[in-house]
Amino acid sequence: MFNALVVNKDDEGKTHAAVTQISEDQLPQAEVTVAVEYSTVNYKDGLCIGPGGGLVRNYPHIPGIDFAGTVETSDDDRYKPGDKVVLTGWRVGEAHWGGYSQKARVMADWLVPLPDGLDTRQAMAVGTAGFTAMLAVMALEDHGIKQGPVLVTGAAGGVGSVATAILANLGYKVAGVTGRPETADYLKDLGASQIVAREEINETTKRPLEGETWGGCVDAVGGAMLARVLGQMEYGASVAAVGLAGGAALPATVIPFLLRGVNLLGIDSVMQPYDNRLRAWKRIAKDLPMDKLEAMVQPAMLADLPKLGADILKGQVKGRVVVDVN
Ligand code: NDP
Repeated sequence: MFNALVVNKDDEGKTHAAVTQISEDQLPQAEVTVAVEYSTVNYKDGLCIGPGGGLVRNYPHIPGIDFAGTVETSDDDRYKPGDKVVLTGWRVGEAHWGGYSQKARVMADWLVPLPDGLDTRQAMAVGTAGFTAMLAVMALEDHGIKQGPVLVTGAAGGVGSVATAILANLGYKVAGVTGRPETADYLKDLGASQIVAREEINETTKRPLEGETWGGCVDAVGGAMLARVLGQMEYGASVAAVGLAGGAALPATVIPFLLRGVNLLGIDSVMQPYDNRLRAWKRIAKDLPMDKLEAMVQPAMLADLPKLGADILKGQVKGRVVVDVN
């Protein structure tokens, strides 16, 4: 028997999450059984611990969209007992049982070997949020980052914190948008040289183009903020659209694309091909300073997850949570 955070749904459709003992034979059929060491809390985890958000198919459910740990048993030649592994994406923690558990059973295709230079705790301090931030930075680089500062929206959140630290370490000027002025010192310590108040940039404007201000953007917010940012990009600059913390609608015009050649780049971490996953994890080990990563971390245990899940949906989690499942 081992511990997991199990979510059940009652007859009225309400979900309830609690730490529960389960046995190995309750785990789903799959190729590799992993002794999980650490997991984390992403925005999607908030949905899966709580109301489900249309992501969870069946109950009882074990959330946790990412984890890192040690292989216990494997029916696949690529992994053997003792190997350190990381999992992000593939709808684990949504459609499949996830990482909020002392053991997880998953397909070998979904795993990557723990990258050189990171331990399992650091890998989960990065987690899906940080992995996605790296994918966004790589997409901006592939399309060319221009002169002006790189804007990071939702900067004090998970994606935003890691994007800020990576971009600053690569030598870019970073402007962080936050709705929490009290996080200004935290963001400056991560490397932001400018703080932009959320209200300044959150409102729609009738002007489809404003001054050419930003040389690139990692956007975790979407909605009216993304629409506004598109009209503030430098000629030929790119926005990597990562998230929807501020809304899924995009009340924009096509004018920034037509008159300024602005690029809107979609970022998906869930179905990323294996080779690009390895490339992103290698870049994380190289370009994300570990002292900055440590400064983002708040530790947690399985029992803390119901509260943390609710907090992240309200935009109240700063940086990255690392969950020690043991
Ligand atoms: P967090 O909650 O940690 O960060 C989101 C941040 O957005 C908050 O901290 C807050 O930052 C800001 N924010 C919250 N609500 C609003 C609002 N109403 N208006 C404007 N800003 C707001 O979440 P994550 O970093 O884990 O994820 C960020 C987004 O990226 C989510 O939408 C998530 O679903 C998405 N995502 C997408 C992935 C992909 O594959 N495309 C993978 C991972 C995440 P502040 O307080 O600084 O303003």
